[in-house]
Amino acid sequence: MSIEVIADKCVGCELCVQACPYGAIGIADKLAVIDLDKCTLCGACVEPCQFEAIILRKHREEPLAGEYSGIWVFAEQRKGVIQGVTYELLGEGRKLAEKLGTELDAVLLGSNVEGEAGKLIAHGADKVYLIDSPQLAYYQDDPYANALSSLIEECRPEIVLTGATSIGRSLIPRVAVKLNTGLTADCTALDIDEEKKILLQTRPAFGGNIMATIVCPRNRPQMATVRHKVMEKASPRKERKGEVIRKKYSVERLNSRTKVLDLVEEVSKTVNLAEADIIVSGGRGLQDPKNFKLIEELALVLGGAVGASRATVDAGWIPYSHQVGQTGKTVKPKVYVACGISGAIQHLVGMQTSEVIIAINKDPEAAIFKVATYGIIGDVLQVVPALTAKFKEILQ
Ligand code: FAD
Repeated sequence: MSIEVIADKCVGCELCVQACPYGAIGIADKLAVIDLDKCTLCGACVEPCQFEAIILRKHREEPLAGEYSGIWVFAEQRKGVIQGVTYELLGEGRKLAEKLGTELDAVLLGSNVEGEAGKLIAHGADKVYLIDSPQLAYYQDDPYANALSSLIEECRPEIVLTGATSIGRSLIPRVAVKLNTGLTADCTALDIDEEKKILLQTRPAFGGNIMATIVCPRNRPQMATVRHKVMEKASPRKERKGEVIRKKYSVERLNSRTKVLDLVEEVSKTVNLAEADIIVSGGRGLQDPKNFKLIEELALVLGGAVGASRATVDAGWIPYSHQVGQTGKTVKPKVYVACGISGAIQHLVGMQTSEVIIAINKDPEAAIFKVATYGIIGDVLQVVPALTAKFKEILQ
């Protein structure tokens, strides 16, 4: 069930405030505002409202055709800059929208971010729903989840896509719970069932050994998070025209139970893993945590980032933020150098779409060689420093 105040009908008369036994309704800007954390969906406020401004919806077996329409992409931004995964979602969202014969829209939340709306339109959004508020300056669970779920309840898209980033993974389960709908996390492929017109959401399951296709036939919207770098970015077209729809919610609705005291960025000598064109990754074959220095030196010379297998992260040799694979980051660089990594399926799913893969391993039978473009059979402790020295000679 869900409950909604129809802003056009509500006059702020307070009858619902008096009727609510849970103190879940307040008035802000002459509009009834329901605190969904307190509301039990008992419906006591519906009848007293003389303006039919409160609607309590019971979920049906099947959503009514046409009641929900459009595909939405949550436009993730950090420090006001749209993140790459958003453009990938717009690229994929456009294909899905064409198959469904519907529109593709973006949702942009933040503070002073209106300038970014044009980029979303250029990358394929027909409309951009914009909520610009100082309360949304930094990502915080409460205001972002409240804003997005309110917007979805109001506009009813049939599909909502977000990046499977740390923000997306924190935000969207909260929204799914508020809307009482399904969510498929970490999808690697999306499609439309042409007959039933529903979203087919594919992701690795059972430790990456099978690919499962998941559907959400009854509840709406259908929601999925999608991994960064598995889908192609939409190409921007500056001449594209679209509409920016500004929405506003009350200060109470955007309140947060947490407070941002400080933002501390991870300091790294090398570039960000997810955005890197060249990645040098180390595995247990390095034998000792101090040997990650060899990986870092090669990455520095090549202007690349440092990646790692889970075995090394679990052993505490390097922080989790460097992990590549099923439970780490999915990467798609131009060059991926795997040093002393065996090539377990859970590692491969995170890097096998890299353009060129160079594997260094002393075991000629190692699985990593099956996906490698070039293989070097040898000791990483000798091969990596030799490569670093040679690249230094050539590049500097
Ligand atoms: P190993 O498998 O121990 O391989 C070490 C390799 O180094 C061997 O091939 C060996 O021949 C080679 N070697 C040894 N010495 C040298 C030397 N001197 N020179 C050259 N080569 C040498 N793993 C991930 O990486 N990412 C994930 O996200 C991930 N998620 C997982 C999720 C689940 C649910 C599970 C069950 C597992 C997951 N794993 C993940 C773990 C994965 O199964 C492997 O255990 C892990 O990738 C192995 O890491 P490795 O290749 O560094 O170590």
